[in-house]
Amino acid sequence: MRGAFRTVLRAAAGLCLAACVASPLGRQRLLLFPDAEVAQLGVASFDKMKREMPLARDPELESRVRCVAGALVAQLDPEAPRAWEVAVFADESPNAFALPGGKIGVNAGLFRVAQNQDQLATVLGHEVAHVVAQHANERVSTVFAAQSGLELVSAISGAPGAEQEQLLALLGLGAQVGILLPYNRDQEREADLLGLDLMADAGFDPRESIALWQNMAKAGGAQPPEFLSTHPSHGTRMQDLGQRMPQALSRFEGAHRRGRRPACG
Ligand SMILES: [Zn+2]
Repeated sequence: MRGAFRTVLRAAAGLCLAACVASPLGRQRLLLFPDAEVAQLGVASFDKMKREMPLARDPELESRVRCVAGALVAQLDPEAPRAWEVAVFADESPNAFALPGGKIGVNAGLFRVAQNQDQLATVLGHEVAHVVAQHANERVSTVFAAQSGLELVSAISGAPGAEQEQLLALLGLGAQVGILLPYNRDQEREADLLGLDLMADAGFDPRESIALWQNMAKAGGAQPPEFLSTHPSHGTRMQDLGQRMPQALSRFEGAHRRGRRPACG
């Protein structure tokens, strides 16, 4: 048992040496897939959602989302896609998501919580930051690594079952699969901070992020949206944003000096 565990640890360490890449905020994580493959997964998931979920068909909301998203993605690395597709779904829960491959989905219910363009930019900045920081690749890579571990353990022990589960639990790995799993706390924190920088660079007022997360916390019901699923605690989130706010404000002022003053309604 102990030998098997050591072998699994060595395999995981080997994988990390081969494929660990620092995140934009310097966190070491496993990325196993080419960007193009993850983008394909994002595009296919978005198409499926558009087929299976009713759209709001509200041109005014769509143009607001398109305006804010356009201002944000204009600030991304020139190699990132510029033409992001947006869709507004007829769903009253205050939620939004962005997928690799340049896709943004917003529920109509988000507009109850995001009360101005800067608050909408807070949410979309957070979601686009998940994409830019390759969090989906990281999540799928982690699941893939868990499955490799599983095969390895069954090959070694020849007795799948409780022992495998125990080893995986020791590694901190679960057995869930799927692109829409909630992000973990580190990834949420990273999306908050990168999203704050991004909205400020685009000329949206970063101070509105505080109001947005307060509105979101008030709106969180029995079905927590993506933002609250594995969220940093409200206090931690506010503290992190507060610490980064002076830097975000100087980015915001710099953006205004360069004439970046979005008017998205
Ligand atoms: Zn998030």
